Amino acid sequence: MKLRFLGTGTSFGVPVIGCSCGVCTSPDPRNRRTRHGLLLEEGRRRLLVDTPPELRLQLVAAGVDSLDGVFLTHPHADHLHGIDDLRAFSGRGADPIPLWIAAEHEAEVRGRFPYFLGPDPTIQPGTVVPGLDPIPFRDRERIDAAGFDLSVIGYPHGAFTSYGFRCGDLSLIVDAKRVPDDAWELLTGSRILVLNALWYGSPHPTHFNVEEALEVVERVAPERALLTHLTHRLDHPRLERSLPAGVEAAYDGLELDF
Ligand SMILES: [Zn+2]
Ligand SMILES: [Zn+2]
Ligand SMILES: [Zn+2]
Repeated sequence: MKLRFLGTGTSFGVPVIGCSCGVCTSPDPRNRRTRHGLLLEEGRRRLLVDTPPELRLQLVAAGVDSLDGVFLTHPHADHLHGIDDLRAFSGRGADPIPLWIAAEHEAEVRGRFPYFLGPDPTIQPGTVVPGLDPIPFRDRERIDAAGFDLSVIGYPHGAFTSYGFRCGDLSLIVDAKRVPDDAWELLTGSRILVLNALWYGSPHPTHFNVEEALEVVERVAPERALLTHLTHRLDHPRLERSLPAGVEAAYDGLELDF
């Protein structure tokens, strides 16, 4: 299986508009972070995780010409608002793409995009909208998402629950503030752990900071942990030097084979 990091930035992205800090003006390409997106690949099968605002740029850069499914972690704008870019696939006559979405988020997502997910889509003749087939899931459900065997795990994220999953050796935690007590068991034995981290210090109400993410890493004890959803307060090379052995900072374009 291959995991590609399409976007590793927090909701503002990096560089932040109008910011002249050292990270936002850094020439290091690893300090340029688009919003959160991941791609799981097994042969020609591809599952996209989240549809961030830079989705078109990410899929073009990754050379993606087909998708077998989309998994949405939660409906915050930075994870969802690039969904219209999926019409590139429908425009080529592809079948509707299954969209796995938490049952509790479905109404909100449909309401956000009524022109293709509402009860009465308004498609003008000669135009193209994304062809998606929403499939609701519930917390702790085991789903077959485009041939990927996912055990869904919900994580508290402010007013939302953000959904990650265990998929074989891989566990994904996105936009979490806490790991529910009864979820640790599901994470045990993960060889690769991907999880969110905003910055060092100043605990945030709805996301892990680096220290909190490292506590999760220590408890799960994977072979390899990768931090993502990073802000402009984290300079890539400096962050890498500060992390314990086995923990890395992800960056846009990073690929792992496992
Ligand atoms: Zn986010
Ligand atoms: Zn900045
Ligand atoms: Zn969020």
